[in-house]
Amino acid sequence: EKIRLRIESGEKFFSLEFFPPRTKEGAVNLLARFERLRLACPLFCDVTWHPAGNPGGDTETSSMTIASAALNYCGLETMLHLTCCNLSREDVIKHLNRAREMGIRSILALRGDPPIGQDWHPPEDGLKYAVDLVRLIRDLFGDDFSICVAGYPTGHPDATSYEADLLHLKEKVHAGADFIITQLFFRAETFIKFVRDCRALGINVPIIPGVMPIQSYDSLRQIAKLSKLEVPEEIINIVAPLKDNDEAIRNYGVQQAVTLIRELFNAGVAPGVHFYTLNREVATTTILKQLGLWVTEPRRPLPWRRAANAKRST
Ligand code: FAD
Repeated sequence: EKIRLRIESGEKFFSLEFFPPRTKEGAVNLLARFERLRLACPLFCDVTWHPAGNPGGDTETSSMTIASAALNYCGLETMLHLTCCNLSREDVIKHLNRAREMGIRSILALRGDPPIGQDWHPPEDGLKYAVDLVRLIRDLFGDDFSICVAGYPTGHPDATSYEADLLHLKEKVHAGADFIITQLFFRAETFIKFVRDCRALGINVPIIPGVMPIQSYDSLRQIAKLSKLEVPEEIINIVAPLKDNDEAIRNYGVQQAVTLIRELFNAGVAPGVHFYTLNREVATTTILKQLGLWVTEPRRPLPWRRAANAKRST
């Protein structure tokens, strides 16, 4: 069944993002992690896209390899990210065909970022924006893939304005995106306003909040810088004095995420939650346990099964 149906089943879910490992040891660790996390039935796991660098040394991206392993060896519903701005049209199609051959049925369609500090132009026959990738997938692959796109609760940093960025998000949805995952954010009110603004514009697909548990002072600063996000003062004021005490920061990160997600659930704006795990599992698992979303015994009925059963009995 399509992921969107499962998202709309009404039962709260979680999904987990990983980046592809850079070494063989990293790949083994990640597969072991998938095995443990699978017990709690994530709605899906997704693997970020980084065009080069496979620990096996071949020319195919390790994103594809690890996404296929998560799906075919570990039994996880898997979504593959794909960025288009650095690829020729032919390569985009090649990667999509390969994903389909491997059984992957969900793509997070992204533009990606041009290389920093270079006078860069997209490939001549290439795709310029994520919307072009969504259109290509729908044109050439019909409904073979569920399509997710990225949303930015404070606007994308390159956008001319927050409002202009929302209109571009609407274009992606009209081109065929099934649901949206957001960039990370720090305050519940930011997401609540974003959802309200999207709905007012007629963006009606599910919007899943992306949450990053804060795990260390340095990683928080680095990710905020990369994503061009401002960390709110109330968080800096707590985290900065603890910067040499990673354990204290991790504990704070868990509490901050639990509070944030509870506020979103209570406000009725989030069908579930997406975690930027940074390939670590402890913080995410602890948060899920505190939210009551980590249920392994007895095995939780999968949300889409429940929805399907309910449909059958009506
Ligand atoms: P787009 O939707 O194409 O938007 C990019 C910019 O162009 C925006 O400012 C938008 O407003 C503007 N725009 C869009 N359409 C038009 C138009 N027609 N005319 C003028 N302007 C327009 N990066 C990776 O490299 N690998 C990953 O795996 C990855 N995963 C991500 C996952 C999530 C959930 C998120 C939120 C981001 C992820 N990124 C990833 C980062 C992403 O690639 C960058 O943020 C990138 O700069 C924008 O990608 P996009 O798909 O949002 O672009």
